[in-house]
Amino acid sequence: MININKAKEIINKIETEEKISKEDALTLLSSFEYDNNINIKNLNDEEKEEVKNLKEYLRIKAREKADKIFGKYVFMRGLIEFTNYCKNDCIYCGIRKSNKNAERYRLIKEDILSCCELGYEIGFRTFVLQGGEDPYYNLEIMSDIVESIKTKYSDCALTLSIGEKDEEYYRVLKEKGADRFLLRHETSDNIHYSKLHPSNMSLENRKECLRNLKKLGYQTGTGIMVGSPYQTLENIVDDFVFMQEIKPEMIGIGPFLPHKDTPFANEKKGELELTLILISILRLIFPLSLIPATTALGTIKEGGREMGILYGANVVMPNLSPMDVRKKYLLYNDKIATGSESAEGVESLRKNINNIGYILTGKRGDYELNRYKS
Ligand code: SF4
Repeated sequence: MININKAKEIINKIETEEKISKEDALTLLSSFEYDNNINIKNLNDEEKEEVKNLKEYLRIKAREKADKIFGKYVFMRGLIEFTNYCKNDCIYCGIRKSNKNAERYRLIKEDILSCCELGYEIGFRTFVLQGGEDPYYNLEIMSDIVESIKTKYSDCALTLSIGEKDEEYYRVLKEKGADRFLLRHETSDNIHYSKLHPSNMSLENRKECLRNLKKLGYQTGTGIMVGSPYQTLENIVDDFVFMQEIKPEMIGIGPFLPHKDTPFANEKKGELELTLILISILRLIFPLSLIPATTALGTIKEGGREMGILYGANVVMPNLSPMDVRKKYLLYNDKIATGSESAEGVESLRKNINNIGYILTGKRGDYELNRYKS
């Protein structure tokens, strides 16, 4: 039996306190039934209606919170996927090193700068450099890339999403001008982590990297895959606990989507419903954070990205990578990379966002503590 009043009480409490306890998180997450059987409840019609209303209650609270802080604005970031080589072998990932079918590519500095030039003309003021953990980009090469971008586009923010490095590597790139760093922790549970990664990778190291990034002053992003194989609601509760420790400035969550050339090829897709609910809960816990409506959300369902915004997300990341490499950066199958998901499609993206009552802006959109005051 679902206690709707209790669930609403918890939502109101997170809205006021901007934090959630383990116990409340589990009660709230268990109050919903998801589209992929992670929490089967066999509800009757009346209960289904109640749960639907509860979800809408949560969504409205989250969106009101985001509107209060960010107004009707949705920030856009230009994503440049500059290498799909990776030394790691994460079980779920389409560009893991054992995937011999992946067509590998690397962009040199000049290619990356051309992507920035195109993006700048379109109006982007944040570039996100994303890649596998590719040892080719040693500290010297990466420093040169970061410095070149920041010299030429000094009014833009630069986000890196290049995986686990030692503290010195992070420190030098920060000095060269990198502003932000995305490193999704994927799961904060050791047993779950070990089912998603080979034994030479460690959750402790990933957590350590996140702590180092915060210490160095990066605006730091983390997040999870929702509905990844073996994930439980208890795991997600632990993710809330970990995120509340890290206090991320950015949070990226998207549904797990299988890739055909990985050991998880036949696993079920992640949960759309659960992803949306988590976006809303995270918005209430971390009101100032920049939360993207991810490409994975747009891939799992047409209009999924817009739904993400309506549940509290406030960032979109169109693809600025050169056309010929976009289909090679496949972490999962059927990824959308053209149309309104691409930089060329910014106008159609703008229209889609206008249609749901929001305004796309190219502004840097940094994490700012004083947004609350305005
Ligand atoms: S998830 Fe990241 S680190 Fe793991 S194999 Fe894929 S690109 Fe490499």
